[in-house]
Amino acid sequence: MKRICVFCGSCHGFRPEYGAMAARLGRTLAVRGLGVVYGGGNIGLMGTLADAVLAEHGEVIGVIPQGLVAKELAHQGLSDLRVVSSMHQRKALMADLSDAFIAIPGGYGTLEEFFEAVTWSQLGLHQKPCGLLNVANYYDPLRALLEHATAEGFIRPTHRSLVLVEEDPDRLIDLLAAYRPAEPVSKWIEKEET
Ligand code: AMP
Repeated sequence: MKRICVFCGSCHGFRPEYGAMAARLGRTLAVRGLGVVYGGGNIGLMGTLADAVLAEHGEVIGVIPQGLVAKELAHQGLSDLRVVSSMHQRKALMADLSDAFIAIPGGYGTLEEFFEAVTWSQLGLHQKPCGLLNVANYYDPLRALLEHATAEGFIRPTHRSLVLVEEDPDRLIDLLAAYRPAEPVSKWIEKEET
């Protein structure tokens, strides 16, 4: 793995643990020599993450749609800031630039971006690992929902393992690095057909 895409909230959340973990993840990735791809903003956990990587002289690529440059205060100190024209281009470029995906706490945007990466994996459009960094039990209810969806027949047991969950950033990165797709997932469609 060379670069990891991190999806994270545009707010800080109410608990200080969230910001502390965003900074810790940023430092950890930089120290391990892994580049970071993220949404390019300088607000909320996004800004905290980027600043932590930069403080350790790591590589950070931001990908932001033109329409959000002002709203999310595009970070001006990044190694590379790519301004794209749409949300869809943002996600596609973030995915292309990255070898794995991590979500730390966030809201609708974070969840949508993360699960798009997971569903692309499920469809066989990529085989890049996807992990949730479970800070202060934030993702416990989501993990429970995934178990429920599997038990109820909406997620195949082989696909349940597409979402890795870990509390510690180093261990999560180790899990992502060790990830091997359980079985070749059949290509139902080509990327151009999405
Ligand atoms: P949130 O988790 O809602 O705070 O949002 C986190 C990030 O996701 C922000 O940078 C949002 O601009 C971004 N976002 C929200 N919806 C989308 C989308 N459909 N495609 C790409 N990025 C999105």
